[in-house]
Amino acid sequence: MQHASADPQDLPEDLLEFRRRYRQDVVGAYYNGVAHLLFVICVSTTVIGFAIWRLDGSFWRDLATVPITFVVANFVEYWGHRIPMHHRVRGMQMMFHRHTLEHHQFFTERWMTCRTQRDYKIVLFPPVMLFFYLGLVALPIGLLLYFFNRPNVAWLYVATTTFYFLQYESLHYCYHLDDESWIANLPIVHSLREHHRVHHNKALMAKCNFNITWPIADFVFRTIQRDRKDEEPDASGENSGDE
Ligand SMILES: [Zn+2]
Ligand SMILES: [Zn+2]
Repeated sequence: MQHASADPQDLPEDLLEFRRRYRQDVVGAYYNGVAHLLFVICVSTTVIGFAIWRLDGSFWRDLATVPITFVVANFVEYWGHRIPMHHRVRGMQMMFHRHTLEHHQFFTERWMTCRTQRDYKIVLFPPVMLFFYLGLVALPIGLLLYFFNRPNVAWLYVATTTFYFLQYESLHYCYHLDDESWIANLPIVHSLREHHRVHHNKALMAKCNFNITWPIADFVFRTIQRDRKDEEPDASGENSGDE
């Protein structure tokens, strides 16, 4: 993907300073964003491929597992974002810090794009999160389904839940690419990007557009906002998550 290498000249001073400090203090000298992205794609597709390979011929009877898992994951994504990522919850402060105090400070609705591959660090989850996710979400429920339901249900669950993680990371990555990149201009990606861009308005981030992927739960809970014209951006950043 193409990125301009420098921040825009008219970037506000405080944002410029935040980015400078983040890049210097948090992004390690050897960090490589492309390797980070490839790691997520390779590990996820390997797990998905393995799970599909383990299915036997009668898996079509259990295909309902896929949409059910997908929709449940969408609601988990919504509440995970709406509560611990935007509110200080005891034991989950790290999520608030990384998301509200870092991601939302680095990218605001006017300044949404990575400038180099090293900025992927502030978009993608840390690589170790993928193993936490597989170990805490995919594995235990997958094992329960394997032993107390049917192996096909378990493998379809593991494949879908891992795919969900992969598409979350991939879509969020696309939202923070340059506006001119071809992928950002695919109609569906463009529409989801706009949904996420509104969420990056500091005055709105704790109020609407909590789905990072498909706004199913946002629709159910009536938290979709299509544009931000009727809200004044909070330039101070003081509105950092408490509703
Ligand atoms: Zn974002
Ligand atoms: Zn957010």
